[in-house]
Amino acid sequence: MNRTSRVFVAGHRGLVGSAILRRLEAEGYENLITRARAELDLTDQRAVDDFFLRERPEYVCLAAAKVGGILANSTYAADFIRDNLQIQTNGIDSAYRHGTRKLLFLGSSCIYPKHAPQPMKEEHLLTGPLEPTNEPYAVAKIAGIKMLQAYRRQYGFRGISLMPTNLYGPGDNFHPQDSHVLPALIRRFHEAKETNQPEVVVWGTGTPRREFLFVDDLADAAVFLMGRYDDEGIVNVGVGEDVPIRELAELVRDVVGYRGEIVFDPSKPDGTPRKLLDVTRLHGLGWRAKTPLAEGIARTYRWFLEHRDRMRG
Ligand code: GDP
Repeated sequence: MNRTSRVFVAGHRGLVGSAILRRLEAEGYENLITRARAELDLTDQRAVDDFFLRERPEYVCLAAAKVGGILANSTYAADFIRDNLQIQTNGIDSAYRHGTRKLLFLGSSCIYPKHAPQPMKEEHLLTGPLEPTNEPYAVAKIAGIKMLQAYRRQYGFRGISLMPTNLYGPGDNFHPQDSHVLPALIRRFHEAKETNQPEVVVWGTGTPRREFLFVDDLADAAVFLMGRYDDEGIVNVGVGEDVPIRELAELVRDVVGYRGEIVFDPSKPDGTPRKLLDVTRLHGLGWRAKTPLAEGIARTYRWFLEHRDRMRG
């Protein structure tokens, strides 16, 4: 992949796609291809195939997906499995049919079994039952991984699959119910500060542990691996450290500058107790995350403040 390559970034308005696009633009890529949802519906097989026939992207970053937090995954379970299967099947198959040289697919750490040993290694895939709160999403992502492995074996198609840990950053979804924990807490602490509320409610018990990767670091890893990695094995992309939700809430509180109390609501689901990726393979390939959590939260909070007025929900 070089600066004149025709690169299609699918999902360029989302958290991950926008970060990959920013990264490629900053490196001087001249032939970046993007389509807004109104221009190209990635769940529409014929539309996707027509698009690939006309544009013939040489490289594809498949960052389009239906995503959401613990509550959205159970509320919209059918949408999550259908939309993700359609988007990835259409994208992968059309890329193969129309001569794409290499495709990057993004999974998620939730593809690993609920009780996988921690930290979770790539070989733990399909060794046990999944966490029920996001099983439909995880099953779709596992199908994408297996599809790329099969396309590589049968057709020699070069697809690579990265498994990022929980991501956050500029462009995140800050919806109060449907978002992931980090943007949800940024918004909740900010609004509590603005309206002088005495306490902020955090879902669950505060004891589950999660690993958080700043999305610009993921984009850096994606471009790095597009250039240097070409194998069917999945690659975890994380920071190698996790924090309890309680500690995350305290960090967000401090960044936002809120002075009230934190209260936990154990009637909300905790989800899986721990989700930490083993990043030995990634480190072996020569890449490490750079952005410390407190700095990433501060940058995300700044983005939130700048875009607050235009946010939905
Ligand atoms: P998960 O990693 O798939 O479980 O996704 P989430 O980011 O939605 O949730 C991570 C953890 O944060 C879970 O234990 C949640 O219960 C907890 N959590 C605490 N407050 C919130 C919140 O306001 N929104 C979300 N989504 N999760 C929260």
